Amino acid sequence: MERNGRKIVIIGGGIAGLSAAVYALKCGYDVEVLEMHDMAGGLAMSWKRGDYTFETCLHWLVGSRPGGEFHEMWQEVCDIEKLTFVDPEVFARIEDERGGELNLYTDPDRLEAELLAHAPQDEAPIRALTHGIRSLRKFKIVEPSRGLAGNWRGMLQDVPIFPLLSRLTKMSGKEYGSRFSDSMLRNFFSMGDVGKLPAIAMVLSLAWMGAGNAGYCIGGSQALIRLIEEKIAALGGKIRYKARVRRVLVESDTAVGVQLANGELVRGDWVVSAADGHTTVFELLGGRYIDPVTQKQYQQGETFASYLQVSLGVARDLSGEPPMVSRILEIPIVVDPETTVEHLGFRFFHFDPTFAPVGKTAVTCILPTRNFRYWNELRRNAPMAYYSAKNRIAETVIGVLERRMPGIRAAVETVDVSTPATVMRYTGNWCGSQEGWLFKPGDGMRMLPNHLPGLKQFMMVGQWIMPGGGLPSGPMTARPTVKAICRADRVRFDVAAETPVHEEEAVGV
Ligand SMILES: Cc1cc2nc3c(=O)[nH]c(=O)nc-3n(C[C@H](O)[C@H](O)[C@H](O)COP(=O)(O)OP(=O)(O)OC[C@H]3O[C@@H](n4cnc5c(N)ncnc54)[C@H](O)[C@@H]3O)c2cc1C
Repeated sequence: MERNGRKIVIIGGGIAGLSAAVYALKCGYDVEVLEMHDMAGGLAMSWKRGDYTFETCLHWLVGSRPGGEFHEMWQEVCDIEKLTFVDPEVFARIEDERGGELNLYTDPDRLEAELLAHAPQDEAPIRALTHGIRSLRKFKIVEPSRGLAGNWRGMLQDVPIFPLLSRLTKMSGKEYGSRFSDSMLRNFFSMGDVGKLPAIAMVLSLAWMGAGNAGYCIGGSQALIRLIEEKIAALGGKIRYKARVRRVLVESDTAVGVQLANGELVRGDWVVSAADGHTTVFELLGGRYIDPVTQKQYQQGETFASYLQVSLGVARDLSGEPPMVSRILEIPIVVDPETTVEHLGFRFFHFDPTFAPVGKTAVTCILPTRNFRYWNELRRNAPMAYYSAKNRIAETVIGVLERRMPGIRAAVETVDVSTPATVMRYTGNWCGSQEGWLFKPGDGMRMLPNHLPGLKQFMMVGQWIMPGGGLPSGPMTARPTVKAICRADRVRFDVAAETPVHEEEAVGV
């Protein structure tokens, strides 16, 4: 690749920073990614404990199917065809502690049959749900960096579903759930942050799963990250680890590079921040450049909750279990002084052979909380209390599992607990948020500005400029940002994927 003699410094090696690196390298820029952690990925992370690997991020990757929405975008940033995807038959099973259960199949016909058998009194809203899932399977999202020429076909195709889209975008998950008289179905749409999001988020996810375009890749989110790192290396880019940026260097209202925590200066023609938005705007730039939209967002916007994750290495083959179980609890669990949860979500990773030896299973459980201050302060000021709070949570979660699967406690050989303090320490995300900003009913797919007023040669990418977040927000925000940089520099934006499309069948679980 011929270089154009200009350099982009990228802060942060999560999915967004790495995607920006690939797009920039493809356009001939020299690229240096500065990542504070000793590995890339940010929230797209897993960790090893003994025999087990514990995934935190990947439930589904939208764009997993060749020809599906976002697939081409993934091809632009990595050789996605090298990943092996599995598409579960059951997305999740909802259970209560009295023996009630409901399988949420990814196939809309099976889902409809299961829901009608479970709650015949809810026939009308059930049929409306499965009709919505079928209608949205081919929905094309408008991608601003492709302009009208790249979007008109999709827009035309979407015309018949506009009224449905509009209804589901304006109503919250909780409102949508209230259509069902069955408590399990109501619960499913109104649990935690899902209940605050527009209903479209869940219906569209089910639609993409139904279309086989939201699979799980073997090796989890780090398998995807490694592919993008390989692409960066092949294109001649540089990623530096343990390189924490302390401030953005600004001369005459122009970003000219960054200073690292060790004092080193790294200069560039452009600075792109793919780090957490609050750190970027208020710490690395000292709050000197901010527009009213961004200011309002940081004062009033609501973030996705943070979370504790209890990860268990279980010396038992749990392949008979569904990949995900949402268990409605008889007795709610007190997570911290401000947080009580009424259900627990378990993931049984039997479908990923890279996560545990044969005959054993990695199991995780996420407990959402917004009380990140409590966990941070406990960790900082009272390490012993922090340790016992983590133990208490682990014991409680194992207790719920033991009630469901008697004898399982004896098979638990590895226990790991992460908290919001862990999320903030390792990724820097504001409030320990899982996915940046919550997007609200009526907001639409509104992006925040990717540049700051009065500051030249500086751009931002990642989940903090795209409410709703998710892995696709990485390349989705990186693409238009690098395109804008190319336009400013009069450089040709040519990022076509080299990867041929293989129509391979996904593996079922
Ligand atoms: C529990 C959970 C489940 C999820 N499930 C899914 C899912 O199933 N599907 C999906 O698509 N998405 C999912 N997501 C969301 C997805 O992981 C995130 O939206 C996405 O990874 C965010 O990427 P990012 O690059 O914008 O930010 P980040 O991943 O936060 O990356 C920012 C990077 O910047 C680095 N950094 C920060 N400050 C500095 C600094 N000063 N100097 C140098 N480096 C710095 C950080 O270390 C980090 O590597 C999930 C997230 C969580 C937590």
